[in-house]
Amino acid sequence: MVSDFLTANDMSLFEGTLEQIRRAAKLINLNPELEGVLAHPQRIVEVNMPVKMDNGALKIFKGFRVQHNNLAGPYKGGIRYHQQVDMQEVMALSVWMTIKCGVVGIPLGGAKGGIIVNPKELSDSELERLTRSYVRAMADVLGPDKDVPAPDVNTNAQIMEWIADEYSKIHGKDLKGVVTGKPLENGGSKGRDVATALGGVYVLNEIIPESERKKTRVIIQGFGNAGGNAAKLLAQNGYEVIGVSDSLGGIVCKKGFDPAEVMQCKITKKSVQYCGVHDAELGDQNCRKVTNAELLEEKCDVLVLAALENQITAENAGKVKAKIVLELANGPISPKADEILAKKGVMVLPDILANAGGVTVSYFEMLQNAENNYWSEEEVFKKLQPIMVKAWNDVSEISKELKCTLREAAFVKALKGLEQKMKTKYT
Ligand code: NAD
Repeated sequence: MVSDFLTANDMSLFEGTLEQIRRAAKLINLNPELEGVLAHPQRIVEVNMPVKMDNGALKIFKGFRVQHNNLAGPYKGGIRYHQQVDMQEVMALSVWMTIKCGVVGIPLGGAKGGIIVNPKELSDSELERLTRSYVRAMADVLGPDKDVPAPDVNTNAQIMEWIADEYSKIHGKDLKGVVTGKPLENGGSKGRDVATALGGVYVLNEIIPESERKKTRVIIQGFGNAGGNAAKLLAQNGYEVIGVSDSLGGIVCKKGFDPAEVMQCKITKKSVQYCGVHDAELGDQNCRKVTNAELLEEKCDVLVLAALENQITAENAGKVKAKIVLELANGPISPKADEILAKKGVMVLPDILANAGGVTVSYFEMLQNAENNYWSEEEVFKKLQPIMVKAWNDVSEISKELKCTLREAAFVKALKGLEQKMKTKYT
């Protein structure tokens, strides 16, 4: 998708994931056969779906599902609706799912799906018909024990409910476990909505002690599920949020602000860039509008990337001023940019660790659906926190031991686990 963002120094997104695997593999003399397995997604499905529009016209939409690897368990990964989705992107995202499940040690494999569509241009009923068409087209490859989608960019609990309903209708029985991220009243898990952001906050809290959070200034790119919830949770955890952005642009406020107010304002004004917190202050010294490019280069302590891939490339990595970058988005930093940030001493908390809270609570949802027994939000958080903390401790230990970046260490952790599984699985 984001090939426009790539420079001559960078590579395609899928190539980039293979390069990440190669870098980690070198550190541990990984079995080259595993590298070969991971370089080839197990199944790639592409479908063309005719969907009736409200005006009676028939429109064809293209959709994808990539099942990357199921060494650790059933395939798992979100579905993205975006006008720039393409196969390379979905393949890359599916690789990260395989690795991410290994980093947090949950028994799931990796997959990802997508539809080329700008959902903002569809009515709710068009969106529903498109979603149901996708399920019919993919019905053979999905399943509660086979491949379980979840929300991603521009998809939400309502869309997950349509998926569960259509899949159950096809099979003539209740199979809501085919998807996670459902509404609470239809088998969703408490805490799933905030899980991606919360997992990242748990990791950050391990690095920044409570006493230092008040003076830790945070800027967040992306204000949807991952970014919006991160802004709210970081403020609740005592950090000072000074900047946020969405696809149209952002704001940076010297004195910080309450993200809940901006969230409220975005509902009526459509973009955070019109939400100078107390609007009158926009013109004064406190808040100012910034472009998306400018936001990434602003002075802050922690930069949270929660939008799309390849936001930091070889072109702008040198201008990043944050000391820590928390990747809630998948693949927001290109491999070249990663090298530049590492040389500058910027600590990058990699996506496959930092955003793994989402898939972890999705796994909790699968367990709750299978047992038809639902946990309180407190129970969900109590189970999520030690998983994220252990993953962080393991990754930081490996990084010290092998003198490598946290991303390489996270890959090492996951690859070692997959290597063990491969011994008995592929005979
Ligand atoms: P979302 O659709 O809820 O939100 C995306 C946000 O990014 C929106 O606010 C949008 O306006 C903004 N955005 C888009 N382009 C932008 C740009 N160029 N600059 C600034 N903002 C921009 O999506 P989400 O679920 O929050 O996903 C965001 C990222 O997090 C994706 O990379 C996704 O793969 C990753 N992620 C999400 C989950 C999850 O549970 N939702 C889990 C793991 C990873």
